[in-house]
Amino acid sequence: MRLILLGPPGAGKGTQAQRLTAKHGLVQLSTGDMLRAAVKAGTAIGLKAKAVMDSGALVSDEIVVGIIAERIDQPDCRKGFILDGFPRTTKQAEALDKMLAERKLRLDAVIEMKVNDSVLVERITGRFTCAKCGAGYHDKFQPTRQPGVCDRCGSNEFTRRADDKAETVVPRLKAYHEQTAPLLPYYEGRGILRQVDGMADIDDVTGQIEAVLASL
Ligand code: AMP
Repeated sequence: MRLILLGPPGAGKGTQAQRLTAKHGLVQLSTGDMLRAAVKAGTAIGLKAKAVMDSGALVSDEIVVGIIAERIDQPDCRKGFILDGFPRTTKQAEALDKMLAERKLRLDAVIEMKVNDSVLVERITGRFTCAKCGAGYHDKFQPTRQPGVCDRCGSNEFTRRADDKAETVVPRLKAYHEQTAPLLPYYEGRGILRQVDGMADIDDVTGQIEAVLASL
């Protein structure tokens, strides 16, 4: 199965992708995670992307399309994948169409996670991740069971993304509305767009996504 999770930053795409990965054995392809790994490793792509990411703008189509094109050819993607944070522009969507057509693959669904902008700032600024195993948490909505200890691996080291600050959220939302939202009619026109209520709680959203997958 090949899916796209589409929605604004903070909609819960990463959280739901992780759950789908665990349940269905699909690979999560997050361009944001890949770019952050490149920044951390200090690669040429990372050096180019860092300032753009810190400003809340989008990295060039050329860079992210190149990253995805390389990644989908790896053997672990054969069973299927979930695109999380890609495509984000019409150019990227067109490049993806071309990539899939060349490989005789098709998209099963594009799942829009609908969330009001008003809740996104609080969602984004409160989130943090276990530095060791990558489990995601939120100060208010999903704290660790024991303060300062990861539920999953017991680590006491956590990280917060450099761009999860209130002042960067506004340009990130602007980029979503101006450059990514036009993909909704693009996929709707092909009859593969499905919508879930991303304002619901995490388990409920998972249930809605599972219902979409069951209907495919
Ligand atoms: P994310 O983790 O998906 O919120 O992405 C974090 C940041 O990485 C974004 O604000 C962009 O600067 C960059 N980024 C991630 N994916 C893309 C993409 N598909 N196109 C352009 N920039 C991206």
